[in-house]
Amino acid sequence: MTSQRTRDRLVRRLQDEGISNMQVLELIRNTPRHIFVDEALASRSYEDTALPIGHGQTISQPYVVARMTAALLESGPMNKVLEVGTGSGYQAAILSPLSGQVYSVERIQPLLEQARMRLGELLLRNVRLKHSDGSWGWPELAPFDAIIATAAPEQVPESLLDQLAIGGRLVMPVGPPGVQDLILLTRTEEGIERKVLDKVSFVPMLGGVL
Ligand code: SAH
Repeated sequence: MTSQRTRDRLVRRLQDEGISNMQVLELIRNTPRHIFVDEALASRSYEDTALPIGHGQTISQPYVVARMTAALLESGPMNKVLEVGTGSGYQAAILSPLSGQVYSVERIQPLLEQARMRLGELLLRNVRLKHSDGSWGWPELAPFDAIIATAAPEQVPESLLDQLAIGGRLVMPVGPPGVQDLILLTRTEEGIERKVLDKVSFVPMLGGVL
């Protein structure tokens, strides 16, 4: 169920859906998504679907992980990358080999601790995690080359925009619960450029910590 054949099938499916970045596809092929979900769901972990991870949260759909990762990778440097919404840690694991350093914040402590263990198991040492409300970003470490949010606010938090370097990109879902726009924002010398990439459905970005 977690065999190479199942993973190859997922990669072919992502290619059919329009993902063409080979670096991203190879990472999806080689990253064990089954260790980021509960054992009972492991047999479904190479389906192109979001899966529950407890606490009302989900591990993102592989297509969306690939799309967001490729959008950041193809638009500029990845030295310092911030993720808002660590969740299972899977997106951080995909970003790790592509980035100098990944910083990821999660508001639900038990999810964060579980992600810490899994990333440790995979020996991904350039991922630093923090328990906090990520809508504030990680101001002490700003600016970032790239910011990815894997939970959807109704509007882009100003503080995340403020923490982008010049040339920095922010990819995130924005909109009401249900269906959101996946947007790519780029900070230029002149201001912010905005592009809509897709329609997506993410869990909401919530305030405070648990
Ligand atoms: N990137 C994750 C996706 C997890 S779902 C993965 O690959 O599994 C989104 C996560 O965002 C949830 O774990 C949720 O608790 C978290 N989240 C929501 N609002 C947040 C906030 N304001 N700050 C930090 N994390 C937040």
